[in-house]
Amino acid sequence: MFTSQEVLGVTHWTPDLFSFVLTRPDGFKFHSGQFVMLNMPEKDGFQPKPRAYSITSPDYAETLEFLSIVAPDGQLTTRMQHIEPGDHVLLGSKPTGTLVHSALEPGRNLFLLGTGTGLAPWLSIARDINTYGDEDLGIERKFDNVYLCHGVRFVRELVYREFLERDIFNEELLGDIVQGRLHYYPSVTREDFIRTGRLTDLITSGQMFRELGLNQTQFNPETDRVMICGSIPVNHALKAICLAHGLKEGSTHRPGTFVAERAFVEAHA
Ligand SMILES: Cc1cc2nc3c(=O)[nH]c(=O)nc-3n(C[C@H](O)[C@H](O)[C@H](O)COP(=O)(O)OP(=O)(O)OC[C@H]3O[C@@H](n4cnc5c(N)ncnc54)[C@H](O)[C@@H]3O)c2cc1C
Repeated sequence: MFTSQEVLGVTHWTPDLFSFVLTRPDGFKFHSGQFVMLNMPEKDGFQPKPRAYSITSPDYAETLEFLSIVAPDGQLTTRMQHIEPGDHVLLGSKPTGTLVHSALEPGRNLFLLGTGTGLAPWLSIARDINTYGDEDLGIERKFDNVYLCHGVRFVRELVYREFLERDIFNEELLGDIVQGRLHYYPSVTREDFIRTGRLTDLITSGQMFRELGLNQTQFNPETDRVMICGSIPVNHALKAICLAHGLKEGSTHRPGTFVAERAFVEAHA
């Protein structure tokens, strides 16, 4: 079942990437990190197929924010890219997904590994106070440190960079909690940047751990928890690394030490 929600705002980051904010209907519950189906209303007799979207807002937010690619010839996004405040988007009623706190055992370090629009669920999880816990608010500490690792092809695709490098630390309430505990780790593959290379290579070479100031060369199942969100090949490669480092895949029924979800489905899949 879908409900029609009003578009409250749209940001165009690049010609191919935009984010938008929708009204959140009464009674719409979700856990940070989950995805939901979106669609556009029928127009000129054509109704696109609904598509999965990670909710980038944390679960306590009053509105729902999403980050979207404009897929070449994509039936939904070639239309959705033109939305403006006041337009309507169809929102599914059943958020779901495995990139949630309850699928992971508590740990010292939480690594959020995402490529492209695989950043979307991390924006939700990184803004959720429950990810960190807070003694003053009576919320149990789940992870001491959160490492948000975002791999893209071009620097311009590092969307939300200023937010993750600066603005999140000035947010009311959250700012103090994430100070010194949320670490943003961007990398670019196809042009010069402060850091270049694929996340997989940065992890297997040990460079990522070194640059994050961690005294280790690979994931440690005793202390580290990992969430993965990328294309199918990226997910396979990152999962293989987690398994080789001794991590166990978790689910909401049986929490483990890593979880994965696809950020999109390949055309040939
Ligand atoms: C669990 C899940 C969560 C998702 N979350 C998001 C999200 O938060 N943001 C988002 O933009 N998309 C997300 N997607 C992909 C999304 O469902 C759509 O595929 C996408 O928005 C394009 O829809 P479309 O109908 O325009 O094109 P489609 O017909 O779906 O795709 C056309 C082509 O574009 C490629 N493609 C589709 N999506 C992407 C993408 N995100 N990055 C790179 N290439 C892509 C496809 O592989 C295909 O080749 C998610 C997919 C899954 C399975």
